[in-house]
Amino acid sequence: MAFLQNARFVISVNHFDELPIDEGIEIAFAGRSNAGKSSAINSLSKQNRLAYVSKQPGRTQLINFFSIGEHMSLVDLPGYGYAKVPGAIKDHWVKTLPRYLQERNSLAGLVIVMDIRRPLTKLDTQMLDWFAPRQKPIHILLTKSDKLSKDKSLRALSDVKKIVQTQWADSFHTKFTVQLFSSLKKQGLEEADEIIQSWLALNKNHIPNLVS
Ligand code: GDP
Repeated sequence: MAFLQNARFVISVNHFDELPIDEGIEIAFAGRSNAGKSSAINSLSKQNRLAYVSKQPGRTQLINFFSIGEHMSLVDLPGYGYAKVPGAIKDHWVKTLPRYLQERNSLAGLVIVMDIRRPLTKLDTQMLDWFAPRQKPIHILLTKSDKLSKDKSLRALSDVKKIVQTQWADSFHTKFTVQLFSSLKKQGLEEADEIIQSWLALNKNHIPNLVS
């Protein structure tokens, strides 16, 4: 069974000091607006409307928390790079997102969703600059891979792997994984699910009073 199938919406948060208590394990999803993050979360959780909550007017710029089991959460971070977001909200996020990525203890790993045709945009690399120094694992989903031929997809995969290895992984000793993904074709679901489960397993000692 897909691990994220248990996901249930819990709360939307606008400010760093409103975040739920910092204990347990969180896996965050980030991505440029329109990259396919909501579709990826919906596919991985096998729930068509789960990330719909993050798309409702007024909620797109919030941090949305979903419970995926006791003391485990999936965190849907606001999509970035959307030109129509007012300057004041952008400024707010430029302060809040790095704080979340750099200070949150429960955050066990970051999934960054990128459109395979436009990977590693300036803001994606900004996310990597903020989070890679924490040496926690980062998984990149190159989504919409159905839009490219197999050859082009594999080339994009290999290019992105090379760039993250030399620009972040080698410098910060951060574990990076990159995969092809398509919500439309349901491609790559198992691979992503396994990676997320492995992060949760690695961090089980963060769960209070867990009887193993
Ligand atoms: P978000 O803004 O990052 O949450 O992006 P969405 O999940 O809302 O997707 C943006 C657009 O891309 C929508 O029109 C989706 O139907 C489309 N999309 C998302 N994932 C895929 C995919 O794997 N393949 C294709 N062809 N389209 C996709």
